[in-house]
Amino acid sequence: MKFRNFKMVSYVIYGRGSFNQLDEILAPHRKGDAPMIFLVDHFFEKGAATGDGKPLINRIPLRGKDKVIFADVTYEPKTTQVDKLAKQLKDEFGTVSGVIGIGGGSTLDLAKAVSLMMNNPGSSADYQGWDLVKQAGVYKAGIPTLSGTGAEVSRTTVLTGPTRKLGMNSDFTPFDQIVLDPELAANAPVNQRFYTGMDCYIHCIESLQGTYLNEFSKSYGEKALELCREVFVTKDHWDTESDDKLMMASYAGGMSIAYSQVGVAHAVSYGLSYLLGTKHGIGNCIVMNHLEPYYPEGVAEFKKMVEKNNIDIPVGICKGLTDEQFDTMINVSLGMKPLWENALGRDWEKIMTREKLRALYEKL
Ligand code: NAD
Ligand code: ZN
Repeated sequence: MKFRNFKMVSYVIYGRGSFNQLDEILAPHRKGDAPMIFLVDHFFEKGAATGDGKPLINRIPLRGKDKVIFADVTYEPKTTQVDKLAKQLKDEFGTVSGVIGIGGGSTLDLAKAVSLMMNNPGSSADYQGWDLVKQAGVYKAGIPTLSGTGAEVSRTTVLTGPTRKLGMNSDFTPFDQIVLDPELAANAPVNQRFYTGMDCYIHCIESLQGTYLNEFSKSYGEKALELCREVFVTKDHWDTESDDKLMMASYAGGMSIAYSQVGVAHAVSYGLSYLLGTKHGIGNCIVMNHLEPYYPEGVAEFKKMVEKNNIDIPVGICKGLTDEQFDTMINVSLGMKPLWENALGRDWEKIMTREKLRALYEKL
């Protein structure tokens, strides 16, 4: 048996208001007059405030030639978008001291990928896969403003490329620093907060019910699940404690899948996202709604949370698709071999046939 030896985030700061320490955190990583680039979710462009009431953009510790770039996350990150951003920075500055991503999972992934592409030749599409990145990127820090994806701790950055939706999975991908300040997630819209929070819940169910499970994954997965339950099942209203707990759930859920894998909901939702552009959080929810045969208890609890939190989960999104379109989704989904193996075991190909998967897509 060969065990994975995985690289983790180097520095973590957690706490309400910890964002205020960003200037001192970044200071040792400034290289001469090369700027720090703050890649900020476009939600904050018009002065949206964080939990302390001040606009986030006024709190960014800009020095010298530092630059704020607003990340357009209308669509999930694409390799073309990453390449364009990296080129823009190389053309303007030659090199930069670091890339600081502030936003949801999409912005965090963009920041990781742009950092890597500052020091690796070619296109980010060349590095979609496992361990293809050869050089460390520039210094990178991640500051989540939505909780659930685990992108703050993972060794991947999920990108849609010309031929596939796949991450740049590598030991160079994890952040050098993350700043977990639950205040920053205070104003997230109720539906979005739920969809992204459910990404974490689903990571836990898929990890804990998976065949790859070990005590490391289980320890983190159980804690994350407990926190999700406190937030979405036990509590009767959203408060600051909910943000505190969900941010730690996201971290622990990410740690859980780092040593195991996700499962059926993710494998199926990747197909939706590739063909229809369905976003990760909501896509997972749309699929989870129909996964009783695979995760009976998890799905029952998921439905309870949907009802309690008064959330709409779309249905009928695959109505009217052609055979060719179903085939595209099936191909993308069945291509996620480790996910299926984790979910259904080594003989997964005998269990999840194309016909069975087609029937599942038709229900969504
Ligand atoms: P997101 O980053 O796509 O953002 C969703 C929406 O919320 C956007 O409109 C954004 O502007 C807005 N938003 C962000 N923060 C906000 C705030 N504080 N208040 C109000 N609005 C806010 O959503 P997400 O669910 O966090 O991330 C999904 C992305 O994460 C996908 O691209 C997915 O592929 C990726 N992902 C990556 C990993 C990984 O390990 N790298 C894991 C899971 C998902
Ligand atoms: Zn996910």
